[in-house]
Amino acid sequence: MLQTQLEGHPLVYLDSAATGLKSRQVIEAMASFLTHSDAPIHRAAYATSQRATELYHAGRSKVQHLIGARSPTEVIFTRGTTDSINLLAASIAQARLRPGDEVWVSAMEHHSNLVPWQMACKASGARLRCIPMDAHGNLQLTAFPPQTRILAVSHIGNVTGTVNPIEQLAQMAHQVGAWLVVDGAQAVGHRPIDVQALNCDFYAFSGHKMGGPTGIGVLYGREELLNLLPPTRGGGDMVETVTFEATSYAELPLKFEPGTPMTAEAIGLGAAVDYLNAIGLDNIHRHEQQLLSQAHSLLEPIDGLRILGTPAERAGLISCTVDGVHPLDLATLLSCRGVAIRSGHLCAQPTMAHFGISGCWRISFGPYTTQEDLELFGEALHWAIGRIKKGQQDF
Ligand code: PLP
Repeated sequence: MLQTQLEGHPLVYLDSAATGLKSRQVIEAMASFLTHSDAPIHRAAYATSQRATELYHAGRSKVQHLIGARSPTEVIFTRGTTDSINLLAASIAQARLRPGDEVWVSAMEHHSNLVPWQMACKASGARLRCIPMDAHGNLQLTAFPPQTRILAVSHIGNVTGTVNPIEQLAQMAHQVGAWLVVDGAQAVGHRPIDVQALNCDFYAFSGHKMGGPTGIGVLYGREELLNLLPPTRGGGDMVETVTFEATSYAELPLKFEPGTPMTAEAIGLGAAVDYLNAIGLDNIHRHEQQLLSQAHSLLEPIDGLRILGTPAERAGLISCTVDGVHPLDLATLLSCRGVAIRSGHLCAQPTMAHFGISGCWRISFGPYTTQEDLELFGEALHWAIGRIKKGQQDF
């Protein structure tokens, strides 16, 4: 991908918050598995099946160590962040929410960490409430009422890049006996994550945003809480015994993983973890912070450009608008110069409403993003804004 051309120009990829590019190691691990070891796991007696089963579970333990979970049983494989939160919200709606209970979601959530909770509240009669955000894009935290059962907050906001104070939120949740669910889609792969140090109860993320494949994600949960929750999806592999009258479920993590799992994807995810560890997550974080300050110096002088939010701590992404320039026009023109950025509401319509806009554009970084990428982006941005403004004058 880094050697690919976009509209005849070398690709400048600044959309890692939407999906991360996959390293050669990830591609090769998946290709090698599919070429030499492909077999159904957990089921067959032949050697390739056993080898495939080992490789699949090795992927799980790599993820366990990446996030500091106590045991592999706390790592549930899902199809992505969205799937993880849907699974969790549906199970919590059944087992833990009653009329009068409250679920608090922040004002900066991606739709993935809002809509499933709306559904859970609708199903259970609980009430959905909003943790407000100030003009800088920081959460405004005050004590939660005793009827709070769930706080669901992103670790890093996908519009403002705000790094939320997860340890503090965990303390506030636990003070009222609530569980803290963290949407870590924008955090994993960009900085070291330790779920025990964060003290969260659940943590959801996607493989494809951390340089792994699409189609796989993770729901981390404390083992004692996962044991309390019922599965909401049934089928093969997640059961102990089945009769027409009743079914007993398998132990964690299989209880939440019905059906033939994403074997090649779990192996690719394990390879992505190896790749991140080889570079070092501290190094990746430092690198993205350097790019962030370069991006600030490049964007701030531009006439009419507004950066959404000035949070206390920002991760490696910036969303902007430019007066009189439609985000889609800008993204389309940039694409003509080989620059890939995201535009639109970024799956965060309430956040757009907070800033009084319907859409914006965003640049975001990964470990492979270079200073030169940002220089090329800067030149293309000036050219595109100039062209749009000139077009308006001529018109
Ligand atoms: N949460 C956040 C903060 C995100 O940025 C995204 C994707 O952009 C998601 C959730 C959803 O991730 P996925 O589409 O991989 O399920």
